[in-house]
Amino acid sequence: MGRTKHIFVTGGVVSSLGKGLTSASIGMLLQRRGLSIRMQKFDPYINVDPGTMSPYQHGEVYVLDDGSETDLDLGHYERFTNSPLSRDSNWTTGQIYQEVIKKERQGVFLGQTVQVIPHVTNEIKAAISKLAGDDVDVVITEIGGTVGDIESQPFLEAIRQFALDVGKENCLYIHLTLIPYLRAADELKTKPTQHSVGQLRQIGIQPDILICRTERPLGPDERAKIALFCNVPVEAVIEERDKDFSIYEVPLSLVDRGLDELIVRRLGLKAGKPQLDDWRELLHRIRNPKHEVAVAVVGKYAEHRDAYKSIYEALDHGGVAHYAQVRIQRIHSQAIEREGAERLLSGVDGILVPGGFGERGIEGKIQAIRFAREKRIPFLGICLGMQCAIIEFARNVLGWQAANSTEFNKDTPYPVICLLDEQMNITHKGGTMRLGAKPTKIVPGTTAEACYRQPLVWERHRHRYEFNNAYREVFTQAGLTVSGTSPDGKLVEIIEVKDHPWFVAVQFHPEFKSKPTAAHPLFAGFVGAALRRRLVPTTYTDSEIRNEGGEADPMLTGAPPNNGEEAVRR
Ligand code: GLN
Repeated sequence: MGRTKHIFVTGGVVSSLGKGLTSASIGMLLQRRGLSIRMQKFDPYINVDPGTMSPYQHGEVYVLDDGSETDLDLGHYERFTNSPLSRDSNWTTGQIYQEVIKKERQGVFLGQTVQVIPHVTNEIKAAISKLAGDDVDVVITEIGGTVGDIESQPFLEAIRQFALDVGKENCLYIHLTLIPYLRAADELKTKPTQHSVGQLRQIGIQPDILICRTERPLGPDERAKIALFCNVPVEAVIEERDKDFSIYEVPLSLVDRGLDELIVRRLGLKAGKPQLDDWRELLHRIRNPKHEVAVAVVGKYAEHRDAYKSIYEALDHGGVAHYAQVRIQRIHSQAIEREGAERLLSGVDGILVPGGFGERGIEGKIQAIRFAREKRIPFLGICLGMQCAIIEFARNVLGWQAANSTEFNKDTPYPVICLLDEQMNITHKGGTMRLGAKPTKIVPGTTAEACYRQPLVWERHRHRYEFNNAYREVFTQAGLTVSGTSPDGKLVEIIEVKDHPWFVAVQFHPEFKSKPTAAHPLFAGFVGAALRRRLVPTTYTDSEIRNEGGEADPMLTGAPPNNGEEAVRR
């Protein structure tokens, strides 16, 4: 097991306390003190992964390089840290049981009765140990759900046992809890926290550190009371206040409260001071924007805050690169069907159509794209957003009114988007799409090249359908540019519309690789174009500007606090 230390993060009182963000912040602070970290999350639900779950239920599905479809908290891990994430970074009850049942069928258990303790808990512990190693200082394991949930029990039992296996001195238990403020009594209430810690202690876990989410500052009396009742020293009662500006404030406020110092001391880690200069610069830009820009995200889950999580984050990063605040307008694609694009989109500087599945809301997305193309509003299409851009072009430029994707109409006379060959015979759902990081070759002289400034980029995919190559010739003749393909040239990965200030659509998901300190080049480019439209209303196209100066417009590429190009290297 070597020298690896373990941090376990649990949550109490209510869900949605920001356990993922807090875990990501802890990982980031340790990493920025020079430690090597790994992160993982256990999700107590029975689905094998969130890939088949509705965004209404679960929010966004976050895709990793290796193609695993994971919980959106892993997006926070990647945005805050450089810890390598893989299939081993997200486990569900369904996956754990699948492993146990597979072993049972193989006869691995030699006639024993297979039980939650020890067989399921052993499998959970094996998943934790998998991330440990000689080159890893700390593994941070977040337990999804709330203490007291029936589903969480095996995970909590496993992390309790884990300290017995590797030694108490090598483990640290951090419990995130809520201290509600009761207006009627004008008081912060500590009782729910006492109860949730009580529940943890009942199963044998004494938390070492309590992180207390609160909307009001915790006074010395409240901290002393929590410490006494929960059996922790006062210094281990850490306040985490609600953030006014940005989630990216969380790590800095935890530093101010001494959390990283405490963790390092408790685990006996040798670590330097945290390097946070670029992060402070990031916060400075978020707090003091020089510009404002309005971007519409037109999707069918507009009302759900988490359904396009990484897209909203990546737009913010694009804003940071330009010292701009991006005002995101979440527009329901079906509202566009009812009320028209003109009415809902007239005031915006940029339009983004994200990915999705199924027919609902498709026509509204197509109308939004038409509006962006005809009114010369900067447009970024992602995955289904690119497919809709192709359909829109076919219908309104080529005049093929019945053009469609075979996902929505199998019998369309113009199947401009059709099933990938590799998808033809697949009947199983779950993990069967074209998934994960694939290379894209960038065509010189295009807007894509101006943004990426690299000939080959790696981007993550999650789709079954693609551009139908039978139509490539006709489309390009009519003014559509194919600006990125798979290295063999067979799959269209990026398209652009000529004679438009900024119209780019991609078959992959750039939002998964954007970081606050290194905005994804396409998001920096898109927000830059939107900003240019707002500040210098002009009819120049991107290529006209490039042709004059030879160089890409710096207004479009922006200046991230860090270097944006790192985002798309392998
Ligand atoms: N439904 C489309 C496909 O399967 C797009 C998927 C997506 O946007 N992620 O190809």
